[in-house]
Amino acid sequence: MAIQEKIDDILIIGGGPVGLYGAYVAGLHRFKVRIVERLERLGGQAEYLFPDKPVYDVGGIPAITGRQLVEQLKRQAYQSSFLEVSLGEAALRLERQPDLWVLDTTKGRHYARCVIITAGIGEFRPRKLDNPRVDGWEGQGVHYVVDRLSVFQGRRVLVVGGGNSAADWAMALIPLARSVTMIHRRSEFQCHADSLAKLRAAPEVTMIPNATLEGCDGVGHVASATIRRLDLDREETLPVEEVIVAIGLIPEPGPLAEWGLIMVGPEIQVDARMATNLPMVYAAGDIVHYPGKVKLMATGFGEVATAVESARQALKAMGIAPH
Ligand SMILES: Cc1cc2nc3c(=O)[nH]c(=O)nc-3n(C[C@H](O)[C@H](O)[C@H](O)COP(=O)(O)OP(=O)(O)OC[C@H]3O[C@@H](n4cnc5c(N)ncnc54)[C@H](O)[C@@H]3O)c2cc1C
Repeated sequence: MAIQEKIDDILIIGGGPVGLYGAYVAGLHRFKVRIVERLERLGGQAEYLFPDKPVYDVGGIPAITGRQLVEQLKRQAYQSSFLEVSLGEAALRLERQPDLWVLDTTKGRHYARCVIITAGIGEFRPRKLDNPRVDGWEGQGVHYVVDRLSVFQGRRVLVVGGGNSAADWAMALIPLARSVTMIHRRSEFQCHADSLAKLRAAPEVTMIPNATLEGCDGVGHVASATIRRLDLDREETLPVEEVIVAIGLIPEPGPLAEWGLIMVGPEIQVDARMATNLPMVYAAGDIVHYPGKVKLMATGFGEVATAVESARQALKAMGIAPH
């Protein structure tokens, strides 16, 4: 096949929620789109890190699990007959040729007029406590990733962390766990005020600020956790069988940090059009940096709609019409 026939209008790097929604919006303009995704399944963090967790903050949907949302996003994206998806293929090198980008991946080569980078946080590396007395129990009661909520049925669960992910896990556990204890090393929990109010009102939930997890004990599986009450300067042992550590993820942009993009730490700097410093290369979602950026799917959906519109205008200026 001649190169001209292989050229996509828009190449989307990363098939997480934001890349999927970008493919849908680009499909509305009847552009030839390819998603390149390093993993074997689409859906990014929602598919791999919280498939069973309810999501409450996507416009128009009061509650939906991560996996259900991914299913809906896939159905929406696949409405376009001009969408191609390359799974299990990581983007390695991006090089400019006249009027064209060439992307080399772990499986081959793709050509595109425009590129939209929606690579999120790169690899999914949960931030660990780096405490062998906790990390040594991973798979035996300590969870850095939760793929099935049912394992917590009837269990006493300790949730470590004070942000929205930790609060969402604690809320999701209320109807099924025997008890939920939430600890946070700071004096205030940082989650949404509404989640905080609901957790405080739930009799099954105990919230302990100013506390750190020191270690777990048990025989073959966690049976208790030792916490340090920083304000009281003493240790306490809690009878718990499961521990969820939700203290964030470590962003890792991988090879794209070498592509000549302006990076702010692990993130790509974009302007209000979601344009990067490279011609015809846009970015959206968790990977982008601009003042006031909020890492949520709702913001990513808006950003990628803007990125597609910027790409549409650039393609139009090149004389490339929808199919
Ligand atoms: C536990 C938890 C709970 C959360 N709860 C919520 C919530 O309730 N509501 C909410 O709005 N947000 C929530 N978030 C945040 C939300 O998941 C992210 O904002 C969202 O996933 C960002 O989407 P994205 O597509 O930009 O990135 P990602 O979901 O990270 O997807 C990026 C994709 O790009 C792929 N990729 C990376 N590098 C490459 C490469 N070199 N080549 C090819 N593919 C690549 C990755 O494999 C991945 O599939 C939560 C996050 C966590 C961890």
